Amino acid sequence: MVNENKNNVTDSIHRVLARKYRPLNFTKLVGQNNLIKTLSGSIERGRLAHAYILTGVRGVGKTSTARIIAKLFNCTNPEKSSEIAINPCGVCDSCLGIAEGKNIDVLEIDAASNTGVDNIRELIDGVGYKPLTSKFRVYIIDEVHMLSKGAFNALLKTLEEPPEHVKFIFATTEIRKVPITILSRCQRFDLQIVPSKILIDHLKWVCEEEKINFTIEALQIIVRVSGGSVRDALSLLDQSASISGDDIKSETISFMLGLPSRISSIEILENIFDSNVENALKIYDNVINHGTNGEILIGDMLDIIHLSTRINIVGENNLDTFMNSIPDGEKAGILKISKISLPGLTRAWQILLKGIEEIRAAPNPDEAGSMILIRLAYSCNLPDPASLVKKIQASLEESKTTFNNTLEENDDNKKDTSGIFNNLQEINSIDNKTTLAEVNTFEELVELFKNKGELLLHAQLLSCVHLTSFEKGKLEISISGNTNNNIAKDISKFLKNWTGEDWVISIVDDQGTETLDHKNERKAQKEIENTKNTPEMQKILKAFPNAELKSVNDKNK
Ligand SMILES: [Zn+2]
Repeated sequence: MVNENKNNVTDSIHRVLARKYRPLNFTKLVGQNNLIKTLSGSIERGRLAHAYILTGVRGVGKTSTARIIAKLFNCTNPEKSSEIAINPCGVCDSCLGIAEGKNIDVLEIDAASNTGVDNIRELIDGVGYKPLTSKFRVYIIDEVHMLSKGAFNALLKTLEEPPEHVKFIFATTEIRKVPITILSRCQRFDLQIVPSKILIDHLKWVCEEEKINFTIEALQIIVRVSGGSVRDALSLLDQSASISGDDIKSETISFMLGLPSRISSIEILENIFDSNVENALKIYDNVINHGTNGEILIGDMLDIIHLSTRINIVGENNLDTFMNSIPDGEKAGILKISKISLPGLTRAWQILLKGIEEIRAAPNPDEAGSMILIRLAYSCNLPDPASLVKKIQASLEESKTTFNNTLEENDDNKKDTSGIFNNLQEINSIDNKTTLAEVNTFEELVELFKNKGELLLHAQLLSCVHLTSFEKGKLEISISGNTNNNIAKDISKFLKNWTGEDWVISIVDDQGTETLDHKNERKAQKEIENTKNTPEMQKILKAFPNAELKSVNDKNK
C-alpha cells in the first residue's frame, strides 16, 4: 500500500535524472513560486490547514510538493531564507526519512490502485494513533479523484473532525472529479504549468551538473514536447542523453521522438500562404517519404498557427515565454506567418483542426493530409467576409466620389439645362399670357416646336434638318431624307405666330451640320463610352462579361 517510488522502468535504465533532480525543498521546486510563498508563509505563522489538495497536469510537481509539505510539517530544523519564509532543512532524520520514503509517520497512497472503501478504512483506522517519531501523521493520497464514492464518504468523516496530529495532502490531475464536500475541507493549490523559459533554464542547469553537452534548440524541443511537465522534460533529457552519448542535438531528439523538423511544417505553411501549393505539396511528400505521418505534420502546423496567432495579437515583444520555447531556426518563419491577417490565421486554424479529425478517419492519412493542404491553400485565396465588405465599401466610396465629380462637372450643363428649363417656363408663362416666345438658338427653336405640340415638324427638325446658319429671324438649312416640301414655309409660319417676328427660312444645298438627332445620338454614344470606362462600370462588366451598356440615364435629370 505504501508507494514510495513511482518512477517507471525507462527511468531506471538511465541515470534517472527525474528522480535525482526531484526537488527536495522549495528552493529547488521549479516554477511554483506563488504556492511556495503562500504555503511557507502560512506554516511560519503556524496557521496550518488539516488538509491540502494539489492540482495540476501530470509531472508538474504535485508529488514532490506533497513530500516537501510533509517534510515541512515534521522537519525538526526548518530553515528560513530570504526568498522563502520557511524551508525544510533536508538533513534532519525526519527530512531524510521522508525523502527516502522510510518515515513511518508519512504514508503515501496511490488512489489509482487503492480505490476501494476497504483501503480507506484501513488507512483511517491508523488515524487515531499518535505519530511515532514526528509531530504529525501525514497522509499523502495521490490521484485522489480515483477513489470510489464509498471511499470518499469514509474519508469525509475523518476530514470533518480530524485529530490534531493528522494532516492530509491530496494530489490530483482532475480536480473536477473530486467531490465538493472533500474540496470544501481542503486548502487548494493549483500547480502551474512550468513556463518554458524556467524549464529550459532548469534543464540547462541539470545538463551542466551532469556534464551533458546540449544545444539550446534541443532543450527547446524537449520543453515543447513535455508540455510544461518537469518530470517528462527530465525523462526526455535522460533518454536523449543516453542515446546521444551525452551530446544532445535537436536532430537526436527529433529522431528519438519520430518528430519531423518543424521547419518543414513552417515551409509548407509559408508556401501555402504564398499561393505556391505545388511547392507546399512537394515538401509535404518529401517529409512523408522520410517516415513521418500526415497527422504529426498537420499537428505541427496547428501548433505553428497557434503561435503565429498569439504573436499576431500581442506582438512578438510581449511573448517572452512563448518566444523562448521557439527554436531560433523557426523564429523567422513563425514571425512571417504571424503577419497574415487574423481572420486568415483563424481560418487556417479551423481548417487544420478539422483536418486532424479527417486524417484520423481517413483510410490513407497521408493522402488526407495533402488534401487538407490543398483546401487550406485555396481557402487562403478567398477574401474573408470582413475584407470583402471593406472592398465593396471602398469601391462604393470611390464610385460615389467619381459620381459626385461627374455631378459637379455636369453642374454647368445643369445650369444650362435649367436655364433652358427656366426659359421654357418663361416661354410657357409668356404663352399663357399670350405673350411671345423668344428663340435665341437653333436648339431653342426646335424645342419650341415640341413645346407647342407641333410634333411632326419637331421630328423633322430633329432628323432631317441640317443647320447651315442661325440668326434671329433668319435660318439657313439644308434638308435630307423624307420631309414635306413645305417645311420652310411651315416653320416660318409657326415661328411668326409664336415669336411675333418674321422668320426667313432658306433651304440651301450646302450639306450643313449634322442633324440634331445625329448629334444627340453621338452625345449619347459618347456618354456610354465614358460610363463604360468608370471603375464601377468596369467591375460590373467584368462580373457580367456578356452584358452591354445600351444607354445612360441620369436619374437626376
Ligand atoms: Zn529537516
